Amino acid sequence: KTFEQLGLSPELLKGLYTMSFTKPSSFQERAFPLLISDPPRNMIGQSQSGTGKTATIVLTMLTRLSSNIKAPQAICLAPTRELARQIIDVVQEMSKFTSITSELVVRNALHNGQHAQSQVIVGTPGRVTDVIKRKQLLVDAVKIFVLDEADNMLDRDCLGDQSIRIRNMLPRKPQIVLFSATFPEHVRKFAARFAPDANEISL
Ligand code: AMP
Repeated sequence: KTFEQLGLSPELLKGLYTMSFTKPSSFQERAFPLLISDPPRNMIGQSQSGTGKTATIVLTMLTRLSSNIKAPQAICLAPTRELARQIIDVVQEMSKFTSITSELVVRNALHNGQHAQSQVIVGTPGRVTDVIKRKQLLVDAVKIFVLDEADNMLDRDCLGDQSIRIRNMLPRKPQIVLFSATFPEHVRKFAARFAPDANEISL
């Protein structure tokens, strides 16, 4: 399969080609059509790092949001600032020929009175909780909620609970996507609670 056959917009295809992505990885080929299916379904996905999970998340967010709605529509949580930064870098590269805006919400992002107005938000659970509570991040329009590296997330105190609390602050019923490289029992249990009725894929 090609990226064209996956139904990506011309602007996103252009972004991918400048990153020298020529064809979808097998994880992308399996996950992406399910992720953008209509009506949207939750997804629990397992695959090792290096299989293209980040690009899958990013392409899903960039494909599903409406570029004419100028408010946060996709939130992606990562367990560490470093990972969040890597994800936002991919978002910005892939979206460079689109009008989609994105920003990082980690420690030190957003001072008092500043608002997160970008369409794609990538951040860590603590900081994202904070800015939602202070109403610096309005979540009314959020329709995709992604948790990357769930296994690493659950290795750190409270991040799982914080992620559930964020999900409960989202007003509409968003599409929920959870990715993890490994699925030991505690991650499996968490995933079932976090992303109910999900399509499951594992590579
Ligand atoms: P990830 O599994 O998301 O950490 O991705 C591993 C590496 O593969 C990253 O350096 C990506 O930039 C790269 N990558 C992901 N998808 C593709 C693709 N379809 N074609 C070429 N490289 C890719």
